Amino acid sequence: DCKAVQSALIANIQAQGLKDEIKVVETGCMGPCDLGPVVLIFPDGVFYRKLKPEDTADIVTEHLLKGKLVDRLLHRPTGKSEQVATFDRMEFFKRQTRVTLRNTGLINPESIEEYIARDGYQALGKVLSKYSPEEVISAIKASGLRGRGGAGFPTGLKWEFTARASGNPKYVVCNADEGDPGAFMDRSILEGDPHSVLEAMAICGYAIGAEKGFIYVRAEYPLAVQRLETAIGKCLEYGLLGRNIFSTGFNFDIEIRVGAGAFVCGEETALLASIEGRRGEPRPKPPFPAQEGLWGKPTVINNVETWANIPPIILNGPEWFSAIGTENSKGTKVFALAGKINNTGLVEVPMGTPLKEIIYDIGGGIPNGKKFKAVQTGGPSGGCIPAEYLDTPVDYDSLVKLGTIMGSGGMIIVDEDTCMVDLAKFFLEFVQEESCGKCAPCRIGTKRMLEIMERIVEGNGKDGDIELLEELSQGIKSSALCGLGQTAPNPVLSTLRHFREEYIAHIKDKR
Ligand code: SF4
Repeated sequence: DCKAVQSALIANIQAQGLKDEIKVVETGCMGPCDLGPVVLIFPDGVFYRKLKPEDTADIVTEHLLKGKLVDRLLHRPTGKSEQVATFDRMEFFKRQTRVTLRNTGLINPESIEEYIARDGYQALGKVLSKYSPEEVISAIKASGLRGRGGAGFPTGLKWEFTARASGNPKYVVCNADEGDPGAFMDRSILEGDPHSVLEAMAICGYAIGAEKGFIYVRAEYPLAVQRLETAIGKCLEYGLLGRNIFSTGFNFDIEIRVGAGAFVCGEETALLASIEGRRGEPRPKPPFPAQEGLWGKPTVINNVETWANIPPIILNGPEWFSAIGTENSKGTKVFALAGKINNTGLVEVPMGTPLKEIIYDIGGGIPNGKKFKAVQTGGPSGGCIPAEYLDTPVDYDSLVKLGTIMGSGGMIIVDEDTCMVDLAKFFLEFVQEESCGKCAPCRIGTKRMLEIMERIVEGNGKDGDIELLEELSQGIKSSALCGLGQTAPNPVLSTLRHFREEYIAHIKDKR
């Protein structure tokens, strides 16, 4: 759809003889999925939404030639009398703090010049000219940045462990194997701002003493792969990757590895095995990748969103970053809003933003006048948060207290019509399907749990099934080899914690 709108817009601009005056720039995703395809007219930032190719004639003849807004194509949120013409006045954007999405949807991701024009590669220049490797690590530690892939481990500490570990060469890895159902924040950053990740990896390489980086990206993201390849090619051409970067003697290059689509390859030890060309199976930790990573050498592995935070931290200072967010959760987080919510899409907010604000003020609330029932955070590793906790500030610790996790940032919203037992069964099916089968608790335990869930949903549940689910869950959590298995029972445990009566009703109803 977007391509057809783009072609029509270009054709109309040419037909009106404006091709030398008006530049059409293709960007990555802006975030508001429900409103696409969108066109932004700069410099004023007028936002036209839900466009069809035939709408572009009016944009050219009315807006571009006569300076008049095309009223019928503007965004008007339901229930708001105010006419919103520019994107920075829309509730969806104005409540966000876009740090990792700072360029996504604004620049042409295939143009290194546009990235550079928005301070791109200045952070790399700054560390190479002014910072020692130890000072870079201190800055990242002082920022309070924690990993955005799910575990929330302090990023600076991970870099420090790797820098201090004995063994050479060292490696830098970007985990772009985003696999949670409904999550697409990493994809959006790679497609919309690939240079931010490359720049960050080079900064890390300098800090830990590595000359080689790998980006492990899933095959389902062909556009991301293509844009990364283009970006790496441009960097090599501009001397921003390769040998003797900025004539400082620092060498760093990056290779792309395309994964074959196994969810478990998002687990860091499985991912590293896959890069090495081995079967993508997790191994026990310790040793952690910081000590023994790729080919047994010290390796930093961070996910895409974590990397995208690095250049702004270096440029603006760790104090700037740590002033955003909460005591133990600094900075911002990108969330993918999906399910029963009016404004589906990607949003970036300061850590600690109340759930209610994300779902109602930015997300626009629940469609068709239905009631909010719960939100599933953290995908198949997380759990649900019911309506009574809507005031919860969204940060690492608050979500753990409610029996869920932030995970990579997926938020699936469900309304009053959703059966929570069905929802938990969906996630259990997903992890059962994706279990690599290496260890028995996950391979067999989740299978047994799924059988129980299926009989409950089908109306054949028995007395004692709930207790059996709980017992199996605890056993799997405590004995599975990797994070996939250890967290697999979470959706069941969390729905049992908050919606136990629905399980009981399913079992009793069959009688
Ligand atoms: Fe494989 Fe599951 Fe064991 Fe992880 S917990 S190693 S995914 S079987």
